[in-house]
Order: sequence, then structure tokens, then C-alpha cells
Amino acid sequence: MSVLGGMQDWELRVSLLIDHAAREHGTREIVTRWADGSTSRTTWAGIRHDALKMVQALRKLGIRPGDRVATLAMNHNRHLVSWYGVTGAGAVLHTINPRLFDEQLDYIVGHAEDRVLIFDAVFAPIVERLRSNWPCVEQFICFDSSDHGLSFDAWIGAENGETEWTTGSERDPCMLCYTSGTTGNPKGVMYEHRSNMLHTYAGIMPQCLDLDARSVVLPVVPMFHANNWGFPWAAAAVGAKLVYSATNDAQVLCDLMRSEGVTYLAGVPTVWLAVLQHCDARGEPLPPLTNALTGGSAMPRAIIERLVGAGMRVAHAWGMTETSPVATIAYESADWDELDLERRVTIKAMQGRPVFGVQVRTVDLDDPAKELPRDGKTAGALQVRGPWVIKRYFKAEADATDQDQWFDTGDVALIHADGTVQLTDRTKDVIKSGGEWISSVELENAAIAHPGVAEAAAIGIAHPKWDERPILVVVKKPGAEVDPESLRDLLATRVAKWWLPDAIEFVDEIPHTGTGKISKKDLREQFRDYRL
Ligand code: ADP
Repeated sequence: MSVLGGMQDWELRVSLLIDHAAREHGTREIVTRWADGSTSRTTWAGIRHDALKMVQALRKLGIRPGDRVATLAMNHNRHLVSWYGVTGAGAVLHTINPRLFDEQLDYIVGHAEDRVLIFDAVFAPIVERLRSNWPCVEQFICFDSSDHGLSFDAWIGAENGETEWTTGSERDPCMLCYTSGTTGNPKGVMYEHRSNMLHTYAGIMPQCLDLDARSVVLPVVPMFHANNWGFPWAAAAVGAKLVYSATNDAQVLCDLMRSEGVTYLAGVPTVWLAVLQHCDARGEPLPPLTNALTGGSAMPRAIIERLVGAGMRVAHAWGMTETSPVATIAYESADWDELDLERRVTIKAMQGRPVFGVQVRTVDLDDPAKELPRDGKTAGALQVRGPWVIKRYFKAEADATDQDQWFDTGDVALIHADGTVQLTDRTKDVIKSGGEWISSVELENAAIAHPGVAEAAAIGIAHPKWDERPILVVVKKPGAEVDPESLRDLLATRVAKWWLPDAIEFVDEIPHTGTGKISKKDLREQFRDYRL
């Protein structure tokens, strides 16, 4: 005879988060520093009330469960309202990256079939330029001004908030984020209520994002990027105070950290670099943070050393839009307290260990059926699986995973015996020379240690004998002289001799993607006819 479970049946939907935050942490503040220097304050209870008004307003527009509602906006409290308002109406929030190129914006708005688009006034020029290409969008609303048609405040201001969230299955879609498309068209990742809830439970653990009711979080990572690293959900789960800045100027961020008592800053390495450079230039100490979270690209050792040295808990995470995004994170090992600074920095410079809920493995780059040992030496294609990892891209005809649900990340990594993942490259960027792999990332990291180098990218160039050989493309710092021989000598101290680039080319600029990463695709195109 089969036995039934005896527990309650709750659908894990994100509305539970805002209900909890409003009920148990209702007075905890959400602060926004706007681009014009003004500040506005609301609370978790205020966010919930506005989100319910937005649910009513969306229903009046005829938005039904599953319909896509897009935002083109920076970080602020009204954007947060729309996270809970859109998902609370059962619709899908599509956060658009305003830095994408016009063709990509046209592509994703059409592909997502967005019915409503809510934008910041600073992005009004994009809307004006492209709106005729977006026939699916029936209603444009401006978050922060009434100069561009209907304003958000006027729109939800006509409602009273006396309604209920739309109910449904925890497997219903709730958010849509497109990857920037380093290759081909952007691809849509459709998060579900359940995947976001499980990601939240994992995220708030001390071994993960390490958030609690005392945290005062400044997420500098944009709300349009990769589920905003889960902060709008995780902060509600613990009742953290959120501080938003609509601009990412280092001076503004530092002032805000001090005036709002920020304990926790989350940003990509370039944000940390800007904050450090700003403080150094003014001879000021770093704002007194307890937690530093970074990810999105590899965090340079020098920055980690400064932050660890200043007593911060540094969490270096790896993930991608397809993994909601948190998958691995460098947290403190059991013997942490006995380790010296050098060793601590080494641990934090790697991408960390899987968060509970995510599994990782590496497979042979040429033979995906061959799983590689966790020996800290053998690099291979990094694969992940878990309940908040993608199964299939939006509208794709086939799964993005193999039959055992492994998703190939496109990253190349080695896994150490203790489970620590160390990224060495992206699959498309590794350089194959004489049957062996050369890591473009390691060459680049070695090159940027040169005082005159601002940015460097290594790419493979076809070679008659070796298949491919690396060349290094370098942007010098303004006014700096870089002698190619001195650069080559520096590289020789850091990488194997046969990895040394066959040529070093100086350029004024290296192409970037819409998310600010080096676009190797465009760079390879630029050097298509290059001969060694
Ligand atoms: P996009 O592909 O749109 O740029 P993602 O945020 O999804 O945006 O990018 C994910 C990729 O970023 C990963 O596959 C990896 O290559 C890189 N990445 C993310 N975190 C790290 C990290 N901590 N160290 C090195 N690379 C990282």
C-alpha cells in the first residue's frame, strides 16, 4: 500500500517572498538615489502595496498570465515594484539590457512578444528610435517622468491595491532574461517561480550570498542582468534593507555607502576597481563594508587582496544567466582561520564550490562522453545541472541539456580535489596549438599585470604547422609606452614557453559586447585575414 505524505501543499511562488517581507519586515527600508541626486524612501510594505496596485493596473490593460511585460531600466524602487507586480499578476517580467545594440533590442522585444514596456526617461531616446520596430508593444509607460506619455506613478496611482496575487503553479514562468549573445542571436532564459524560490533559499545561506535581516545591500549589478543575481528575491526573504543607485558613479556609490550604512556591496570586478581607485585617488579609506560579492568575470587577485585585507568577507561567485545565476561560490574553508593572506586570496581568486542544489562536472573538450577527474590539473568543458539551471531556451525546439540534464556552460575549467572550480577559459576562446590547449584567459591575466597595459585579449590565428597559434591584442594605458619585448619577458615568467604569443598587436580599442565583456567573436573577425 502506498503511503501519502502528510505535509501542506504550497506552490512556491515569488509572491510568498513579498508577503513575508511586508508582514515580518514591513518597516525595513528600500532607498533609491536617483540620477539627479534626490533620494526616495519606501519600505517592504510599501513595495507590496504598490505591486498590488500594479497587478490591478496590468489586469486593466488585459495582461494575462504568461504575457510578457518588459522593463528597460536601471536600479530603483519602482523597478523593484514591477518585479513583484508583474510576477504577482502571473505575467512574465522581461528585464531588457539597455546597452544591447539596436538589432539585438529589436530581436529580443519581437522574440519575447512584449505587450507592455516600462522604461526610464534616460532610455526614452532608445524607445523613440525603435518603437516603430516593436509592433507587439501595445503600451509604453515611463517609470520616472510624465514627459514621455503615461507615467508609472499616474498609472498605478489610479488603483487602490485591494486585490490578490494571481495564483497558479510553481512551475509557471515568471521572468525572462536574454543572454547577450557572444555568439549568434541572444537567447531567452525563462525562470520559473519555483526555480527562483529554490535559488533564493540557497542564496541566503551563509555559504552563499550570506544575507540576513541586518544586511544593508547595495546591488550595483543591474536589475536587467541575470536575474539581478537574485537580490530582489533574497533580500525580501530575510528582510534586508536595499539601497539602489540609478547611476554607477564611484563617488555616488561611496557617498551612498556611508550615508545609508551599507554593509554589503555586490558588483562585477570593474565596479570594485572603480571604487578602489576612487578611494585611493582621494586618500580615503574604503567604506566600512562587511561583505563584498563579485562575479560575472574573474576577480583580479590584487582587488581580492585589498578587500580581504580590509577585513571584508569576499564572496567570488561564478554563474551565468542560464544558472539563475548563482552556481558556485568561493566561501571560507574549514581551516580558513589558520590560513595566511596569500592562501586566502588564492582560494577567493578561484570560482569556488557548488552551492547546495547545483552539481558540476568537467568533460573532455573533444569527447563529452569522457568525464574528467577532479585533480586540479585536467581542464575540460564545465557542465552543470540543478533545479535552477536551464533546460530549454525560450521558444527553442530542443533542450539545451543532454539526456542526463547536464548543461554545457561554454566555460573551460578544472576542478580541484576539494570541489573548487577554477575557470581557465571559454570553450570558443581556447587556442589549440599542436593538439594542446592554451588558455587565452591566463595569457590575458599575465599581460594586464604589465603597468602599461590597459586591456589585453588573446586569440588563436590559423597556423599551417600548429593548427593555431596565439596572438595578443593590447590596448595601452593613456600615455604609456609598452615595449613588446618587455611584455613578452613578463609573460615568460608567468606562462609556459610554448604559450607565448607569436605576435603582439597594439590597437586603440578592443570590441566589447552589450554587457561590457570583450567580444572575441568581433576580434577574431577583425583579425580574420591576419597571417603569421
Ligand atoms: P553574458 O553571457 O550575457 O555576458 P552571463 O552573465 O550569463 O552573461 O555570463 C556568464 C559568463 O560569465 C560565464 O559563462 C563565465 O564565462 C563568465 N563568468 C561569470 N562569473 C565568472 C567568474 N567569477 N570568473 C570568471 N568568469 C566568470
